[in-house]
Amino acid sequence: EKQRKIRNFAIVAHIDHGKSTLADRILEMTDTVSKRDMKAQLLDNMDLERERGITIKLNAVELTYHGKDGVDYVFHLIDTPGHVDFSYEVSRSLAACEGALLVVDATQGIQAQTLANVYLALDNDLEILPVINKVDLPSAEPEKVKQEIEDVIGIDTSDSVEVSAKTGLNVDKLLEEIVKKIPAPTGSIEAPLKALIFDSIYDDYRGVVLSVRLFDGVVKAGDHIRLMNSNSEYEVTEVGVNSPHPIPRDYLMAGDVGYVTASIKDINQTRVGDTMTNANNPTEVALPGYREMIPMVYAGLYPTDNAKFEDLREALEKLKLNDASLEFDPEVSEALGFGFRCGFLGLLHMDVIQERLEREFNLDLITTAPSVTYHVDMNDNSTIEVENPSEMPDASAIKDIKEPYVKASIMVPNDYVGAVMKLCQSRRGEFVTMEYLDDARVNVIYQMPLSEIIFNFFDKLKSSTHGYASLDYDIDGYRQSDLVKVDILLNGDKVDALSFISHQQFAEERSREIVKKLKGIIPRQNFEIPIQAAIGAKIIARTNIKAYRKDVTSKIHTGDPDRRAKLLEKQKRGKKRMKSVGKVDIPQAAFMTVLQTD
Ligand code: GDP
Ligand code: MG
Repeated sequence: EKQRKIRNFAIVAHIDHGKSTLADRILEMTDTVSKRDMKAQLLDNMDLERERGITIKLNAVELTYHGKDGVDYVFHLIDTPGHVDFSYEVSRSLAACEGALLVVDATQGIQAQTLANVYLALDNDLEILPVINKVDLPSAEPEKVKQEIEDVIGIDTSDSVEVSAKTGLNVDKLLEEIVKKIPAPTGSIEAPLKALIFDSIYDDYRGVVLSVRLFDGVVKAGDHIRLMNSNSEYEVTEVGVNSPHPIPRDYLMAGDVGYVTASIKDINQTRVGDTMTNANNPTEVALPGYREMIPMVYAGLYPTDNAKFEDLREALEKLKLNDASLEFDPEVSEALGFGFRCGFLGLLHMDVIQERLEREFNLDLITTAPSVTYHVDMNDNSTIEVENPSEMPDASAIKDIKEPYVKASIMVPNDYVGAVMKLCQSRRGEFVTMEYLDDARVNVIYQMPLSEIIFNFFDKLKSSTHGYASLDYDIDGYRQSDLVKVDILLNGDKVDALSFISHQQFAEERSREIVKKLKGIIPRQNFEIPIQAAIGAKIIARTNIKAYRKDVTSKIHTGDPDRRAKLLEKQKRGKKRMKSVGKVDIPQAAFMTVLQTD
């Protein structure tokens, strides 16, 4: 019957291998979107997604495919984010599918997140259809890439399709393969409702909109639903599908992918991964795999203008409506005033939130260097979690400090293995193993502290491998490490927002570099400013910013009054993004120097 004509699939790939472009072509070739409304990366509808060319929130779309056998099939296509920070969302969207298109760029081959994503798909028992993309490019090597997929992942590529998502070449063949290879959903329409929530967004008009995959049963407006893990109940106001715009339906049934609204005001009640059932006729067991999102990276966000504190709170609350993984708590810094300590899934997530705050809410922010969460065992046998380095207790009260570790997988051409290993060793990495991908590339596995990854590891990795390395990592538990808190003092005053945690072994070296960097960043004043780094009362690095003698405008060597006025205006704007500590002005860049060691 109806279910047999449904195909639910996701597209997974390493970033930039062409997921979104392929989704565009599929929408276009099934007339889901008219040529007139077509724009590139249609499913990436957040401004930031379009500008950065990355997918942040996944999207599910229903489309109709007229099969060559004369049957009309219903496809549910789920575009997934490719970045490590969002891998939990990838995993949930995969759980909503029977199959996955594994897109691999024919000029690049398998990359770190190709593997990470394909393992997620295999974990979810999905049928995997390899798609070799970008075959229009002269440097494409589809045969080599297929061999790599067979050797490394161990999946058959004899039915793979070689496409160009850009030109549309062979995308029609791919659509036929989807019908043939990806199984139709099974599940009972008579059984109690059992649906997976794989996404939830907040819409100003409709409240929380849940993206769901029904495994059993039926749901319609008026039903009383229960979210099993969060144990809350609601009355359904509307069900429907996105195609790609929302279209209300009378009901959704087992096998369907669609949306449900139920006048839910709080997105925290609707965690991704939860199971939705009927409150009057509940299913017995929830779907497996539910997990709370745990922020791994914390940073302080402060308005440059202290009067904007409440504006910042409102903005964070608004963003949280759409992003349950964002955490924030008010905090006070002696240096920066009132702000929020925010928790993020990773660095990209942090970047995106910060940029949205500045752009969509017109806020000028100072962001402190990100930090991981430390588990600190105290001498009195209590354990505390420290998310802000300046709050690390006095060393004399601490028994030991544990920090989060990751298992990092780095794929790189043979020639750069030496450089990668050197970098990893210098970041306290412990070599685990090395696997050959083909005769020219390897996958190097290291265990290392997450804090070392946060210290611009990715940039360093890229620069030491001429951009060839790709990185993926998973949190791998906490381990005890020999860590110390380093304080930075300007003009004798401790600047709490500049405190950082370092491994004992690197503390002096990093302090010297930071002190030197700060000297270059903090503008001279009309008195000398000592910069010091200290562990407790012990100074481990120091330098001085010399005083200047003349007034600021004398630096502007121009006779042109217009230009002079413009430069002065520029200086004023730059000053807005500074914080005064004691008598010293500290620019935003200074708060990030902690990350930029060489
Ligand atoms: P995603 O990160 O996997 O979603 O990748 P995108 O779909 O955003 O594509 C990344 C880049 O590759 C974009 O600049 C696309 O225009 C380009 N691209 C995607 N598919 C093809 C293709 O088949 N051929 C060529 N030449 N470029 C492609
Ligand atoms: Mg994309």
